Amino acid sequence: MQNGNPNVAYFSMEFGLNSNFKIYAGGLGILAGDFLKSAKDNKLPVIGVGIKWKQGYVEQHVDSQGRIVDSFYNNEYEFLKDTGVKVNVKIRGRDVFCKVWKVECFGNSELYLLDTDLPENNDRWITGQLYGWFEEERIAQEMVLGIGGIRALRALNKNIDVYHFNEGHAVFAGFELIKEKKDRGYNPYDAWNESRKQIVFTTHTPVFEGNEFHGLDILEYMGAFNGLDRYLVKEIGGEPFNMTAAGLRLSRKSNAVSALHGRIANDMWKSIDKRSEIISITNGVHVPTWGDMDLIGACQRKEDISGYHRRNKQKLIDFIYQETDIKLNEDKLLIGFARRAAPYKRGDLIFTDESKIGTLLKNRDVQIIISTKAHPLDFSGKEIIKHILSIQKQYSESVVFLDNYNMEKAMLLTKGVDVWLNNPRVTKEACGTSGMKAAINGVLNLSTLDGWWPEACWDEVTGWQIGGGFVSEDANIQDKHDADSLYDVLINKVVKTYYNDPKKWQEMMSASINGMVDRYSADRMIKEYYDRLYR
Ligand SMILES: *Cc1c(COP(=O)(O)O)cnc(C)c1O
Repeated sequence: MQNGNPNVAYFSMEFGLNSNFKIYAGGLGILAGDFLKSAKDNKLPVIGVGIKWKQGYVEQHVDSQGRIVDSFYNNEYEFLKDTGVKVNVKIRGRDVFCKVWKVECFGNSELYLLDTDLPENNDRWITGQLYGWFEEERIAQEMVLGIGGIRALRALNKNIDVYHFNEGHAVFAGFELIKEKKDRGYNPYDAWNESRKQIVFTTHTPVFEGNEFHGLDILEYMGAFNGLDRYLVKEIGGEPFNMTAAGLRLSRKSNAVSALHGRIANDMWKSIDKRSEIISITNGVHVPTWGDMDLIGACQRKEDISGYHRRNKQKLIDFIYQETDIKLNEDKLLIGFARRAAPYKRGDLIFTDESKIGTLLKNRDVQIIISTKAHPLDFSGKEIIKHILSIQKQYSESVVFLDNYNMEKAMLLTKGVDVWLNNPRVTKEACGTSGMKAAINGVLNLSTLDGWWPEACWDEVTGWQIGGGFVSEDANIQDKHDADSLYDVLINKVVKTYYNDPKKWQEMMSASINGMVDRYSADRMIKEYYDRLYR
């Protein structure tokens, strides 16, 4: 405890603190990074526990022939401090030593990272690639994070009141907490119940198949049982072992990451017995990281912000010119779409019907920048990229494709475009945070009513909604419905307002900033975690 605030250890597979510190893949990591930064800003005692990924997540480029090329590079970071601590986890019957590094930069965030890349290890590559390789490696990574993470905290003499598992990857930390108590003489159920009092859990995946499962045999073979009996492991995670169900059964309280996601998660996990209550705490973003503070300040003083936005747009347009040789027009509407190339996010929805979008693109009334990255093994994601590339060729003056989406590109885009397009199939996006980054910079959201947007959308005031929240069992029907709605709103509202009613556009930008900069900040979020989950 510090000033009445519990000491929290925040376990996460990834942390997005800086674009060049490649221990993140996407939204989950950005959330974790923003969380740590905001904890420091608010003097709240949170420390992060993660993994020092040697190669991190994939770097993905499109070569001159339009081929998608995945590369992995070894990274070295001079700002990591050796704590002198090494812990040991038994994986596949072999000792795996994990060196513990400390990170103390990026807003003074305090983060400890485990690293198996040591000469004394047979298995140096466990911490090689984030979300890389196959099942055994994934389990090994999760054992390092969870079991190794708890042992690291003990070796570092950290006093922890609450163990927070950001997503199911960390649930083996729960096994280690149970084992510690068993070793002190507790019976298995008391050890579980006592551990549960110390653990909170955040679930992120509203798609059932997207949750992680492992067979009990492979977990046992890997050593993940960690001294627990098979019947207990089965009671915690079921068979096959469901990492999310385990998180729910290992915790005293859980949360989903938006109000809508809370309803979906409660419904999805209603048949899980002995689980913790799932509340909703909507994500937020670290405003000093993602916001243009000059623009936000001017907006709060009720000054004209158009000059600030124009400067951000110009900076983005210059960057695009450097990267792609495409010269976008700063007077024309600029739409941004950037996120993982997952099929449910529908990165190419706007290109569904060329008879509707073609003319707008041809005469450059609409310009669009798309940036994305697909997991190396996500072949349907890569098909989406190929489709976007073929459209880009046809409309090469007004459609830009930026490969290798990362934090740096996200920063330029969420400040520099006019409209932020987001069109996941409703109920599939847990929250989404890139739209929040856009909103606080006066970039207007155009989005289906999924994730955080139903909470924030005041149609034609803070942005626009697409699709009216329509959901269908049949993805084709849902896609057709949403594409029609997207064209309708784009043509009759967005394009019209942009070119014919600049005053209303300015008012909407101010409403977006003023309405969202506090509400969707990581500061609001972390206070909610303390008030509703940790205390
Ligand atoms: C903000 C961010 C995300 C998460 O945005 P979503 O809206 O959840 O897709 C993912 N990747 C990067 C690089 C980001 O900056």
